[in-house]
Amino acid sequence: MINKIITASLPIIPKIIIGKVASRYIAGDSLKTAVNTTEQLNKSGALVTIDVLGEDVTSEEEAINTTKECELVLKAIAENKLNSNLSLKLTQLGLQIDYKFCRKNLVSILKYASRLNNFVRIDMENHTCTDQTLELYFDLNKTYKNFGVVIQSYLRRSENDIKLLVNKKANVRLCKGIYKEPPGIAFQSADEIRENYKLLLRLLFENGSYIGIATHDDNLLNYASSYISTKKKKLDQYEFQMLLGVRAEKRKSIISDGHPLRVYTPYGKDWYAYSIRRLKENPQMAFYIAKAFFGLEK
Ligand SMILES: Cc1cc2nc3c(=O)[nH]c(=O)nc-3n(C[C@H](O)[C@H](O)[C@H](O)COP(=O)(O)OP(=O)(O)OC[C@H]3O[C@@H](n4cnc5c(N)ncnc54)[C@H](O)[C@@H]3O)c2cc1C
Repeated sequence: MINKIITASLPIIPKIIIGKVASRYIAGDSLKTAVNTTEQLNKSGALVTIDVLGEDVTSEEEAINTTKECELVLKAIAENKLNSNLSLKLTQLGLQIDYKFCRKNLVSILKYASRLNNFVRIDMENHTCTDQTLELYFDLNKTYKNFGVVIQSYLRRSENDIKLLVNKKANVRLCKGIYKEPPGIAFQSADEIRENYKLLLRLLFENGSYIGIATHDDNLLNYASSYISTKKKKLDQYEFQMLLGVRAEKRKSIISDGHPLRVYTPYGKDWYAYSIRRLKENPQMAFYIAKAFFGLEK
């Protein structure tokens, strides 16, 4: 109840408070902070995917700058010998400006990543982007094999999309989905979203796609672990994925059980929208915000 009230009030909470409470989810505001965090995560046995924060870009200049920044990330990964790939959002590269312009920016990144023998994950945004994101994937998949997409189990269309993706042996990150979507296109109940997640996970495994199992939900983590052990899935067929700042203890136990695990590690100055999404999912958000308001330790 109190979390619901705070969620409704988030737009009027001062940015400084949001920034303080959400800092656990973000490496910092510079590439250097992302490199440092990645080094620490790699030392702890985790793989990483670095994300340049930002979305819904409306100027070509900004989209080109983000494209260059993504290439700097790939360069820094290579130079620092980090075990990390790159995650990005197509609206950062100008999807809402012009499809062909966005495609050109993505191709530039994919070519660069390919030269450095690295991989790029295209995050999935809200439902207005799904068609174009998948269209771009199927189009570029003919030429570039070093990238993958994300499927959200809350979308009713996802089973169909997965069936098309497995035909291409696509590399897919599977998550529940973070955006608020209408009931006509998305399951609303936690149980339906979970059941669909399990169905999609099975479809991906059965058809030989590589899966990024992106969840912190014990129910799904247990389901996936037991599926992997019963069906004797190999380490090169999947990885678990978690967000920086979420369930670090669970992350360690998954790694110590011998599973590959990747941490989504965002950085950058455009941290607000991402932070709000993360806070809304934090069951203890109200508590942390109250603590930050009263100046107590985070
Ligand atoms: C690596 C990765 C990449 C993702 N990429 C995308 C994407 O491209 N598109 C997209 O729509 N969504 C993406 N998501 C978000 C995802 O869709 C979910 O919104 C998010 O993971 C929460 O769902 P859950 O499965 O962890 O289950 P939940 O039921 O939400 O969480 C399970 C438990 O984890 C803990 N927890 C979860 N979130 C938080 C938090 N923010 N703070 C503190 N504790 C928390 C809580 O203890 C909670 O009970 C991604 C998630 C991950 C892990």
